[in-house]
Amino acid sequence: MRMKTFSATLIGSLSAAVIAAVVSAYPARTQTLRPTPETVESHLAAGKNAAGGRDDTPDFYGLVTAICVAPLNGAARPDAPAPRENPNRKATYMEPMQAFDDLYWMGTPSTSSWLLTSDDGYILYDTQRVYDAEDVLVDGMKKLGFDPAKVKYVIVSHGHAGESGGAYLFQSRYGTRIVMNDWDMVEASVNGYPTGKPKRDIVPTDGMKITVGDRTVTIYLTPGHTPGTLSSIFQVHDHGKPLTVVYSGGTEFNFPNDVPHFDQYLASERRLASLAAVAGATIVLNNQSQFNGAATKLRMLKDRHPGEANPLDVGTNAVARYFKIEDECAQAVRLKLAASGITHAE
Ligand SMILES: [Zn+2]
Repeated sequence: MRMKTFSATLIGSLSAAVIAAVVSAYPARTQTLRPTPETVESHLAAGKNAAGGRDDTPDFYGLVTAICVAPLNGAARPDAPAPRENPNRKATYMEPMQAFDDLYWMGTPSTSSWLLTSDDGYILYDTQRVYDAEDVLVDGMKKLGFDPAKVKYVIVSHGHAGESGGAYLFQSRYGTRIVMNDWDMVEASVNGYPTGKPKRDIVPTDGMKITVGDRTVTIYLTPGHTPGTLSSIFQVHDHGKPLTVVYSGGTEFNFPNDVPHFDQYLASERRLASLAAVAGATIVLNNQSQFNGAATKLRMLKDRHPGEANPLDVGTNAVARYFKIEDECAQAVRLKLAASGITHAE
């Protein structure tokens, strides 16, 4: 019978799988000395192992889950409509928090916006989704004691809805200058900006410096996540001590999944990793708090004891591991695509 044959085959292949798993779980001593061949599995394992967390090192499990375990695997819908206004979403808003002497966080368990402050005004990094910007950013700044009208620059790491959504609000209400490289994406959109689109403003070049008072952000063009993804390096202060931040502007693989796009992504992330290493960055920040654990770490900060490092100040090795996760797990997908002959998704 069809059913019986199927079951027998299934049991047969399960046994083979169990045997294979047992064999690989207990490799012979000599096997472990062989160099590991480059495979999809070897890249994924290397990426996951770089998450750390087992020996009191900072962990990046959110990043591993997002790009190694269950990566997005295609471009976003062209001109996806803006997320609708959703009163239930307000339940996810978190209290804004101070991260360093001069850097503040506003967001949700999954999103981050950062306010770099000086006596002469502020730089806001990423702007939440269109209907979240008023509550999370404008009200958030007021709760922190800052005047949103003093935001001199908004830096939009890339043109997706969760980063560019509030740019129009700041430009139209406060005259804030908008630094963004995905203007084409915003301008081509019909449905993404129901309250209004930001008008094309500052188009950054690689190495451009954005300065407000004594705070300077150096911008790097890191195409991959989107064509115009921006990253940057800047300093913050922790009890007066200067610390270097690398801001990684785009992370997930929701772009056309083909070999050339992964090559571009890998080239950008490798360059950013080396810039971060040269600059001695001990902090890695981004626009999605689950990737670097920002929301959780900032709650830990409230229980910081004298002499303890700021939970976001993870050190140069952890910053390197963050980029290694991206690198290895992007290589895994690239290798799969190359093996299946998908060299062009479009
Ligand atoms: Zn994005």
